[in-house]
Amino acid sequence: MAWMERNVQVRVDHRLLLEGARSVLCVADRYPGMPDAPTAPGQGRVARYARGRDYHRHMKKRLHALCDGFSAEHQGQCFRACVDTAPILERDTAAAAGLGAVGKNTMLIQEGVGSWLLLGEIVTTALIEPTGVPPSDPCGTCTRCIDACPTDALTPFALDASKCISALTIEHRGVIDANLHEAMGDWIFGCDICQEVCPHNQPTQRTSDAAVHDAYRGGAPSLELLAVLQWGEADRIQALAGTSATRATLDMWRRNAAIAGRNALCEHSSSSPSEAQAHPSELPSEVLAEALDALAADGREPEMIRQAASPRR
Ligand code: SF4
Ligand code: SF4
Repeated sequence: MAWMERNVQVRVDHRLLLEGARSVLCVADRYPGMPDAPTAPGQGRVARYARGRDYHRHMKKRLHALCDGFSAEHQGQCFRACVDTAPILERDTAAAAGLGAVGKNTMLIQEGVGSWLLLGEIVTTALIEPTGVPPSDPCGTCTRCIDACPTDALTPFALDASKCISALTIEHRGVIDANLHEAMGDWIFGCDICQEVCPHNQPTQRTSDAAVHDAYRGGAPSLELLAVLQWGEADRIQALAGTSATRATLDMWRRNAAIAGRNALCEHSSSSPSEAQAHPSELPSEVLAEALDALAADGREPEMIRQAASPRR
């Protein structure tokens, strides 16, 4: 997460992002957070935010349209749209703007809506009356996210990125600590567990009524591990076209799939005979094992893939 450490000054002083900045307009866009069906054996799961169309492009386009409208109304003022890529502490800024409060899982939680939210900002030289509200605690005595995190990456209001499946599968470009492999389960891009268990995210009439843009709907909740292991660069681009899941490189995707593949094989070998009989052909375990063994033994593959594909000790 070295990117978090870069531009620290810009993150806390928006005037370094836009000369003369005096206000930040914060927006939150919902994405679908409905419960998932269990993932089929041999499939790897993708975090919900990355399933639909790339929110960076989609939200930025809409923010640019807003900026154009504001610029026309406020002659002489500058407006800059930012989505994720600009160095802004988004959750804290959104909380300061009154869009919600940061929970123990470090996500922004909006009362009555939850945390399945994408955040964006418009930094402007215009002086806008603040809408912020005093900070509140959305958690109380709850510790569900901390208890559910499979890698113990959470302590109240703080996340250890070196253990977080989301950071490891999306940001980390090297070998993943073998001690964490089993806990990564079937996640191959991101992880939603600490949001899934949050009481603020349990479906209610209000959340089902609240709008979700069509762009964020659809998309595959999971991908076939064998296919990902065999991807070339063209396959990766074709499979992930238009989504923000292109952020992970080909080697990272294959590394993540190798870890999930070994987990699937371990789970398959420990399932009861009746379970195996009930789903005899769902996991092509021999084919998957052969593919992983071949990767582990292939000296041309990067170390992070060979290590991920190696049999568990
Ligand atoms: S995203 Fe997953 S691994 Fe990361 S803190 Fe949440 S539950 Fe833990
Ligand atoms: S699961 Fe509980 S502790 Fe964690 S963010 Fe949600 S309300 Fe807070």
